[in-house]
Amino acid sequence: MTSILDESVINVKGVGVETETALKEMGLATIHDLLDHIPYRYEDYRLKDLSEVKHEERVTVQGKVHSEPSLMYFGKKKSRLTTRILVDRYLISAVFFNQPYHKTKLTLGTEVTLTGKWDQHRQTITVSEMKVGEIERQQELKPLYHTKGEITTKALQRYIANAFSQYEHEIIDYFPQSLRDRYKLFSKRETLRLLHFPNNFEDVKQARRRMVYEEFLLFQLKMQALRKYERENSAGQAHEYDEKLLDAFINGLPFSLTDAQKRVVCEITTDLKSPYRMNRLLQGDVGSGKTVVAAIALYASYLSGFQGALMVPTEILAEQHTDSLKKLLEPFGVKVALLTSSVKGKQRKLLLGELAEGTIHLLIGTHALIQEEVNFLRLGLVITDEQHRFGVEQRRVLREKGEAPDVLFMTATPIPRTLAITAFGEMDVSVINELPAGRKQIETYWVKHSMLERVIGFIEKELKKGRQAYVICPLIEESEHLDVQNAIDVHSMLTHTFSTNYQVGLMHGRLPADEKDQVMRAFSANEVQILVSTTVVEVGVNVPNATIMVIYDAERFGLSQLHQLRGRVGRGAEQSYCILLADPKSETGKERMRIMTETNDGFELSEKDLELRGPGDFFGRKQSGLPEFKVADMVHDYRALEVARQDAVQLIQSKAFWEVDEYRLLREMVEASGALDGEKLD
Ligand code: ADP
Ligand code: MG
Repeated sequence: MTSILDESVINVKGVGVETETALKEMGLATIHDLLDHIPYRYEDYRLKDLSEVKHEERVTVQGKVHSEPSLMYFGKKKSRLTTRILVDRYLISAVFFNQPYHKTKLTLGTEVTLTGKWDQHRQTITVSEMKVGEIERQQELKPLYHTKGEITTKALQRYIANAFSQYEHEIIDYFPQSLRDRYKLFSKRETLRLLHFPNNFEDVKQARRRMVYEEFLLFQLKMQALRKYERENSAGQAHEYDEKLLDAFINGLPFSLTDAQKRVVCEITTDLKSPYRMNRLLQGDVGSGKTVVAAIALYASYLSGFQGALMVPTEILAEQHTDSLKKLLEPFGVKVALLTSSVKGKQRKLLLGELAEGTIHLLIGTHALIQEEVNFLRLGLVITDEQHRFGVEQRRVLREKGEAPDVLFMTATPIPRTLAITAFGEMDVSVINELPAGRKQIETYWVKHSMLERVIGFIEKELKKGRQAYVICPLIEESEHLDVQNAIDVHSMLTHTFSTNYQVGLMHGRLPADEKDQVMRAFSANEVQILVSTTVVEVGVNVPNATIMVIYDAERFGLSQLHQLRGRVGRGAEQSYCILLADPKSETGKERMRIMTETNDGFELSEKDLELRGPGDFFGRKQSGLPEFKVADMVHDYRALEVARQDAVQLIQSKAFWEVDEYRLLREMVEASGALDGEKLD
């Protein structure tokens, strides 16, 4: 699709060589870029009834000068001009700071339009802009654009206006009429016109509606196209196994599965049996029982004659999973092995050999599993646990390991649905939205740091009952810059307090791997009763006898992270407690603490977290894998996102989308993205 709009901005009236360069620096190289540079906000010059205007709100009023203005100077440059203005039936004051030149214009009875900040208590407007006479209708909304360098907003407005009048007719709409009709959307040309030159807010709203849907639909089409590509072009393996054997395994578990676990197992085994490759995200709240679901899937893969791999973020977790999966699977003939950085030399060689021969059926480890020269005889299923920070690219690398194994991602943190279908848009999603029966709710308390002594008393009471406690600190050691608790100090303080009767362990990311393991094993075996740690225990660790989680400086953590930490307790039959030590200064900090005490539901918390922190911070900026939208906002426009997602799924699956001319332009957009070749998406 070549278009005149792809040519340089130099073709636009008023744009010379220098401006062209400056615009390019802003990322506006082509006419198309210029037309697509949408205002980020509109300044509101609409007239309002003063009774409706809130204190400190920006307002535009029209009225008549009702008193002689008075002008006072403070020093040479500072001045204050005041007068009274009659606006409808209100007599208000108008104050102009440092604009003495307006004095002569403010003669009695003159009609003026003033824009400024409204002080409701004093019935005064602090004027930032004044115009003699009435404003014209078109000026009610002034678009504001992001600018850079020498390009001013005003100049940019002019270039855009020129570009529009010169090239309006070249703007093509790649939406088919039927799609526009269905949602009553403006054409692309009309949409851009109204966004750049709106008459009123309703225009902006409707034009924005089209842009939001367009951005979401295009993105979702690419994701669905990628999904289609991956399903069809990477010959998956159809797992075949004896259902009775799998049932026997499930029935032999020490508990019966929850309904949610059963449903998810069914979704996963259906994928395993199909000739397509599984590409599935499994979400479940902490403690919802994802591990056993993984075990079932891995057993099914084993029964089909395949090997499996389980990948986790830390070595501690790898060890723990190895222990629990050995217990579950080895009685059924599955040979489980652990590969970590401490498996070296001869031992390592032996292990890799067995893996290549196929005598090891299940390999567990950190990401070393896929990065190193680890060769399987017949890899059928790869599962990652607690790896919610994997971006699209890393997921692709994983899928490319072996001969197209089925892939299951299990996430540490429930992900808000809007993010799940964008960041994981090309995947199928399963959700365990139910905890095993009989779990006691964890009681969560928020206390000030000054209450520490009582908290210690409380810990002691639980220890006497034979329980164990986690104490989490944000830092490893003292910092000059941050006034927060560090694990080393807290560890020595607690050792001092408790050493006669209890063992206090210390754990943090800088300890060598074997020391970490040692501490963790001692805590698991109840040889250590209090574990002071940084957030390294955040994910996955399972010590059911621990019933207290104390978190220092809790306001420093996000909701999802706090919820993960809290999820380390409440894993056994006893009542568990989470104590948040926090003196938050900000309102959102306080809000987060309140929310934590009010809900134990990870899905609800993740939605709140998203609201408070925004999509960028939810995953941590770097690896979010989230797309950037110009106009659309995943949080506020989530309804449109759902609709676009459904439409994209349907379109990609329909014959019409691939064959009918009406969809040609849209189809070309998807094809140009590379999604259909399984390439990196732009
Ligand atoms: P997570 O989803 O956080 O990874 P786990 O898989 O570690 O949770 O499970 C938490 C605990 O719940 C484990 O001790 C596990 O044995 C137990 N569990 C899992 N499923 C059930 C169930 N259906 N009924 C009772 N206990 C269960
Ligand atoms: Mg887990």
